[in-house]
Amino acid sequence: MKRDARDGLLISPIRNGTVIDHITGGEALNVLKIIGITGATTESISVATNVKSAKMGRKDIVKIENRELFTEEVDRIALIAPHATISIIRNYIVHEKKGVEIPSVLVGVVRCPNPGCISNTNEPISSKFAVLATGLHCLYCDWIITKDITNHII
Ligand SMILES: [Zn+2]
Repeated sequence: MKRDARDGLLISPIRNGTVIDHITGGEALNVLKIIGITGATTESISVATNVKSAKMGRKDIVKIENRELFTEEVDRIALIAPHATISIIRNYIVHEKKGVEIPSVLVGVVRCPNPGCISNTNEPISSKFAVLATGLHCLYCDWIITKDITNHII
């Protein structure tokens, strides 16, 4: 992938941590939210929004110092930013770079909107959704989430 030279102007490099690039334009704050980063965090975060991108038109970029992402966090990001790339930086060097991939089944990632769903009771059951082209299908109660998926992410 061709590096956008403007990245360096907008956000300074980090020594150790994670760079999430090619986030769908306007979704950077949702990405932070779903990986649990709030105003109370002690991590150093840089965010660039609506950066021009030849491939995507506009994109967002997030850099998080001293933090690497868990697989479940990457799965959540894939839901709202399917073109995102995730680079693990160690000592200023890109140690690993990968795209995100939406898994075929999401376990414990999304809350079922159906209050009567068994996954919303006190039973020790994690939510389970199949990922379809039309939306997310609850495997317990057959509810299908077709929009505002971000709002249902746990
Ligand atoms: Zn359900």
